[in-house]
Amino acid sequence: MAEIEREAMEYDVVIVGAGPAGLSAAIRLKQLDADINVVVLEKGSEVGAHILSGAVLDPCGLDALIPDWKDKGAPLNVPVREDNFYMLGEAGKLRVPNFPMPPLMNNHGNYIVSMGNVCRWMAEQAEALGVEIFPGMACSELVYDDKGGVKGVVAGEFGKEADGSHGANYEPGMELHGKYVFLSEGVRGSLSKQVIAKYDLSQGHEPQKFGIGMKEIWEIDPAKHKEGTVTHTMGWPLGGNAGGGSFIYHLENNQVYVGFVVHLNYKNPHLFPYMEFQRFKHHPMVAELLEGGKRVAYGARAISEGGYQSMPKMVAPGVALLGCSVGMVNVPRIKGNHNAMLSGKAAAEAAHAAIAAGRAGDELSDYETEVRGGAIGKDLKKVRNVKPFWSKWGLVPSLVLGGFDMWTNTLGFSLFGTQKHGKTDADSTEEASKHKPIDYPKPDGTLSFDRLTNVAFSFTNHEESQPAHLQLKDADVPVKVNLPKYAGPAARYCPAGVYEFVSEEGKETRFVINFQNCVHCKTCDIKDPSQNINWATPQGGDGPNYPNM
Ligand SMILES: Cc1cc2nc3c(=O)[nH]c(=O)nc-3n(C[C@H](O)[C@H](O)[C@H](O)COP(=O)(O)OP(=O)(O)OC[C@H]3O[C@@H](n4cnc5c(N)ncnc54)[C@H](O)[C@@H]3O)c2cc1C
Repeated sequence: MAEIEREAMEYDVVIVGAGPAGLSAAIRLKQLDADINVVVLEKGSEVGAHILSGAVLDPCGLDALIPDWKDKGAPLNVPVREDNFYMLGEAGKLRVPNFPMPPLMNNHGNYIVSMGNVCRWMAEQAEALGVEIFPGMACSELVYDDKGGVKGVVAGEFGKEADGSHGANYEPGMELHGKYVFLSEGVRGSLSKQVIAKYDLSQGHEPQKFGIGMKEIWEIDPAKHKEGTVTHTMGWPLGGNAGGGSFIYHLENNQVYVGFVVHLNYKNPHLFPYMEFQRFKHHPMVAELLEGGKRVAYGARAISEGGYQSMPKMVAPGVALLGCSVGMVNVPRIKGNHNAMLSGKAAAEAAHAAIAAGRAGDELSDYETEVRGGAIGKDLKKVRNVKPFWSKWGLVPSLVLGGFDMWTNTLGFSLFGTQKHGKTDADSTEEASKHKPIDYPKPDGTLSFDRLTNVAFSFTNHEESQPAHLQLKDADVPVKVNLPKYAGPAARYCPAGVYEFVSEEGKETRFVINFQNCVHCKTCDIKDPSQNINWATPQGGDGPNYPNM
């Protein structure tokens, strides 16, 4: 095929992704210099459409970026008033008192927010400062300069047919060039993955670790709603099968965020994270809260869990990786938005200084120094052993050891050094023959729902006449390797029912990819045991359309 010709636009800084990291970077650049040219490209149909967090927001990132955010009407309306932590058994619960928890676990001063709405508000602040924001623009390729540095991205390619050919309405998109390109794509970014591989940025760091987080918004009986209440649980239904737990946050308007995270290093390929979530809602404590209410939205997204020791090098010539593109979640706090914001601010300050000094296209090493040595590094370092302890020893020992280590780290030391994660999540998957299938109850349609019904509540939409954005490196692997060896785990680890093994009498089993259902969580790219699935961007504007997630 002939090389595609594209128009190019020149900016000082090109930012991929309008999440908290990318928008913070854009805002900070304009605060520092009103004349700097900044563009933000977002694959969602609007800013916030693809944002999914819990979310309890630690406002320290926003305080540093926009100290007068209250006066400017930031949608942080619900301060946390009550913090509960329970260990669940199948029918019972045990309240873990707050006093033995290290102070960093306290949610006092934090807010229950819709991060989608926070990002929408941040986008308004950025635009008021003169940032150009283009939603519906998926960045599908990196553009390199003659020396192999990143000089831009391709965005806005539309109108490819399913076989990859150019349809009647084909638009080649544009090249957007910058003195610096910021990749703030969030967890498992598709361009970030390429940059990490090309420049070998993970060299000398632990593998990144992940969880899959699923979340529903419920409108509940006002009599049961307690605005500002935060509840976390561990234990049932996962038990010893996988790490993870739940969150229940009471926000405004009688709404509750009900979410469940399953660590993706589980060994048993029969495990079905989505069904664990559905089963969780039948626990008496949760069922009693939700009964009489209705689920109004559903979504899912991977969450980075590797923390301090897994952050790869975050700069290469012309490019910097921000926020969860390198994984900045504080795992025991289940919080990464504050660090995403702080990283955006730090990257902006480094780029501004470099541009002011006449530099372009080099490594913004000051950014990395600030992340590792500043507030983000300090936040993540204190909790760095919690996840490895959990992976190695299971829930209860890790609570004791991890809690002890967080306390000593708060006092400035650790007896355990820095623990390793070891394997990737894909490599953690063991052969199906070593494990028993798990019997999941059928969803009842009131408290629990089948996947496809729930996916309708993510309001996801993909133009069908385009190439599947879920690409198999080898089309034979799912049926010839993953099915016999791992019982076809793609049929279960995907929280949107994208993957199916279809068996018809007299025909060979087929692996079907219903890419239209994809909610952009990226779990398949992470957990496929053969690492055979590549998540690439579909055309811009496609994907979920989350309301106030
Ligand atoms: C279930 C769950 C619960 C969580 N709970 C909390 C919580 O309570 N508190 C908290 O602080 N954190 C929480 N987190 C973590 C938090 O969501 C992340 O730390 C945070 O989203 C990271 O911000 P980011 O800007 O790096 O990425 P994101 O928020 O993921 O934003 C990335 C943006 O880039 C866009 N994008 C990606 N690739 C491209 C591309 N190629 N082209 C164009 N656009 C692109 C995406 O559409 C998205 O809008 C939770 C995460 C999950 C999954």
